[in-house]
Amino acid sequence: MAYDEEDYLMLSGIQHFEFCRRQWALIHIEQQWEENYLTVSGELMHEKAHDKDFTEKRKNVIITRGMPIFSREMGISGECDIVEFVRDDKNGVEIFGREGHYSIEPVEYKHGELKEADIFQLTAEAMCLEEMLCCEIKYGYIFYGKTRKREKIELTEEYRNQVKKDFEEMHGYFKRKYTPNVRKTKACNACSLKNICLPKMNTFKSAKSYIDFMIGEE
Ligand code: SF4
Repeated sequence: MAYDEEDYLMLSGIQHFEFCRRQWALIHIEQQWEENYLTVSGELMHEKAHDKDFTEKRKNVIITRGMPIFSREMGISGECDIVEFVRDDKNGVEIFGREGHYSIEPVEYKHGELKEADIFQLTAEAMCLEEMLCCEIKYGYIFYGKTRKREKIELTEEYRNQVKKDFEEMHGYFKRKYTPNVRKTKACNACSLKNICLPKMNTFKSAKSYIDFMIGEE
């Protein structure tokens, strides 16, 4: 199946979806957003990585920033922080306007520490590049600002299947304009939308118990 362009979802939404399905729906269906320290520092890191006019050649590697990507099959679009085209005349693919063959390695920039949601985002980016450039990408990298380390990530079948499953589910929610109910977890404490989502409200069985609690709190 191929999605129409007007139905494409944001690729980067997979991080929100993996964090909490309700958070994804609040942002991507209801268009609600609130910044916190984590979202701002993440944004600043991406600004540095996304200089669209930037293409650099270092020895046998061509580096591009902010490359637009999409997948018709998954119905998504987005941008890669960095894509490295590494000269590989044995196993690589041809790149328009360049001599030789290249293997393709996406690099994602993150401010925190290694998380599975980041791996799903990187995998989705690689799957888009594979579809666009008719190539196979076995691994990519995530650079973490906190550790200043580049982690090499193998893009396994399990990650790829989860990515496809997530986007199918997201398209289903988006079509129905469905926002899942609160499921209060530890993640709520770090959630940038907790003041909009109000997860605490869900612990009250009735309006009366909420009012009693609030009056008692003062
Ligand atoms: S506060 Fe909790 S339930 Fe609400 S959107 Fe955030 S993580 Fe999800």
